[in-house]
Amino acid sequence: MTTRILVTGGAGFIGSHYVRTLLGPGGTDGIEITVLDALTYAGNPANLDAVHTHPKFTFVKGDIRDPELVATLMAEHDDVVHFAAESHVDRSIDDGAVFVHTNVTGTHTLVDAAQRAGVRTFVQVSTDEVYGPVDNGSRTETDPLKPTSPYAASKAASDLLALAHHRTHGLDVRVTRCSNNFGPHQHPEKLIPRSVSALLTGAKIMLYGDGSQIRDWLHIDDHVHAIELVRTRGRAGEIYNIGGGTELSNAELAALLLKACKADWDRVAHVTDRKGHDNRYSVNCTKITHELGYRPQRQFQTALEETVQWYRDHRHWWEPLQEHTTR
Ligand code: NAD
Repeated sequence: MTTRILVTGGAGFIGSHYVRTLLGPGGTDGIEITVLDALTYAGNPANLDAVHTHPKFTFVKGDIRDPELVATLMAEHDDVVHFAAESHVDRSIDDGAVFVHTNVTGTHTLVDAAQRAGVRTFVQVSTDEVYGPVDNGSRTETDPLKPTSPYAASKAASDLLALAHHRTHGLDVRVTRCSNNFGPHQHPEKLIPRSVSALLTGAKIMLYGDGSQIRDWLHIDDHVHAIELVRTRGRAGEIYNIGGGTELSNAELAALLLKACKADWDRVAHVTDRKGHDNRYSVNCTKITHELGYRPQRQFQTALEETVQWYRDHRHWWEPLQEHTTR
């Protein structure tokens, strides 16, 4: 029997990779995918070129905050994988309003309609940032939420709303909380593509503060695989952390990017630190490893070099987007 999956935010970085993977060679049998995406500055129809004519693919341009459209779509789908969000921390520091509208109101509109339509499974794609910083050790799924940025707070609120629909109404909600993703098709406002595009155009990498902040890096292939494990084999009402297993300070990452682009440290500009810049995020992935057999497959160094090469080969993709980067 065919499973009809509604993918919100499927024209963005991770959502489009999810769709291309499921409908691509070696993808998943017995599915149909509808992407619902408002095509904000972050949504790019070109990300879906590879599946555009696929018989099992439909694109709907629309807003997750539109209750009528969302209700109609929910009635036609079995599962939902919810990626759509305002996703850039720096923008949320400048102005958090749209983050609340999209991430909180949008998610509420979706889970409310999903529950009313009797959707089978709703996967809420979230972030390790909801836990806030951790100096030592790693956050588990039962740890309290202490988000720092307006972005992280809006994601925490959307997780809680989704889980409330499980507890109150019995909707099968599964929450994933991943670390920093990297790979092709990521908007050049984000750290790795912003740095690579700067190096490829003769500009400097910007390093916040002393560059000591630590992030775990997760290749997008591993993330998509983990989301599929959760959608198909996860449990209702559960949260699953997803990490990549490579923790690096921003300065260490900058050094690797300089090496990959054959550039020196004089191409690094130290800029004023981001307000409320969390020192370290780290997620404990024991639950998804033991329960669903998740293990990241991509070797970081190789995947990073491939990613740099993709940006070298796809200037036509990222150059027009540079005007939408914040700094
Ligand atoms: P992205 O910014 O690349 O894409 C977001 C997509 O959502 C875009 O296509 C945009 O057009 C769409 N969108 C925004 N507002 C919308 C609205 N109101 N209605 C319909 N569509 C709308 O984001 P991403 O990096 O692909 O992230 C996807 C999800 O993963 C987000 O929920 C994000 O919070 C989460 N996440 C991302 C990362 C990461 O490293 N990129 C890490 C942790 C969690």
